Amino acid sequence: MTSGTSPAVPALSEVLDVVEELWPSSLAESWDAVGLVAGRREAEVSTIHFAVDPVAEVVEEACRAGADLLITHHPLLLRGVTTVEAGTFKGAVIHRLIESGCALLSAHTNGDSAVGGVNDVLAEILGLEETTPLKPAEEGLNEEGLGRIGTLPQGTTLGDFAATVFGILPAVAGGVRVAGDRDAFIQRVALCGGAGDSLLQTAAEAGADVYITADLRHHPASEAREAAAGGRPYLMDVSHFASEWLWLPAAAQALDRALADRGWQVEVAVSGINTDPWDFVITPGH
Ligand SMILES: [Zn+2]
Repeated sequence: MTSGTSPAVPALSEVLDVVEELWPSSLAESWDAVGLVAGRREAEVSTIHFAVDPVAEVVEEACRAGADLLITHHPLLLRGVTTVEAGTFKGAVIHRLIESGCALLSAHTNGDSAVGGVNDVLAEILGLEETTPLKPAEEGLNEEGLGRIGTLPQGTTLGDFAATVFGILPAVAGGVRVAGDRDAFIQRVALCGGAGDSLLQTAAEAGADVYITADLRHHPASEAREAAAGGRPYLMDVSHFASEWLWLPAAAQALDRALADRGWQVEVAVSGINTDPWDFVITPGH
C-alpha cells in the first residue's frame, strides 16, 4: 500500500537551520566567510552534494547529479570581488550553479572547530583517545576549537605511524612528508586539518610527539624543527585536500541524520573528485 504522499522535502532555509546547529557559524574565525554563497532560501532541497573545493569540475559534477545544494568546506568568495562575470572562473561557477538551481554553502573554519568537524573526524579515524582541541574556541564548548591533540592507545614508531596516516588519507600525488627520526617512539598526536602552521608552537607546548597538518612552508617548519632541537614534536606534512576530505562522509551522514530527525528526507552524496592541485612528484630514490 502506498500513502499517496511523497516524502517531505525541506526548503533551503530549513537545511540552513540544521547546518547552523551542526556547524555553528559563531565558531568561524573572524577572517572567514562561511554560510550561503548562492541560492534561494525558499527553494526545495532534495539532493545535497558535499565537496572540499567549489572548483569547476566539482560544480559540474553536482549540477549534473541534479543537486539542489552543494556544501563545500572551502569558501568560493573569501575575499572581495567586484564581478562574477561568467568569463572569470569564479563567475563561471556562480553562473553554472544559479542556472542549474543549485545553491552553494560553505562550512569552513566552523566545520573545523565543531564537535564532529574536520579535526574530530581526523582524530577519530586515527584512533586518538582523550582528544581535546589544541586551541579551544573563544566562545563555545570545551570540545570545540581548532586542531586536536590526543593519545594513541598504543605507541608506535614515527615511520609506522606515517604509513598509517598515508593509508588512511585519500591517495594524492604528494603523499606524506615527515620530519624526524623514522624509528622514534610516538604516542601523543596533535593534528590540524588544512593549513595549520599557526599551531606549530601550540602543538609543541601541548607535549605532542608528532604534529600532523598541511601546507607546511620552509621557514615555519625549519624553525619548529630548530626549536625542537631535532626532537619532538616531529612534523607530518600531508595534503591539505586529503586532510579535509575525510570529513565529508561524516558531515554528509550527520546532516542526513539531523534532517531525518526533523522528518525531512534528502539524498546526500560526497564528491570523489580529487581537488588536490598537485599531479605528480619526483623524489630521489623512489
Ligand atoms: Zn582547508
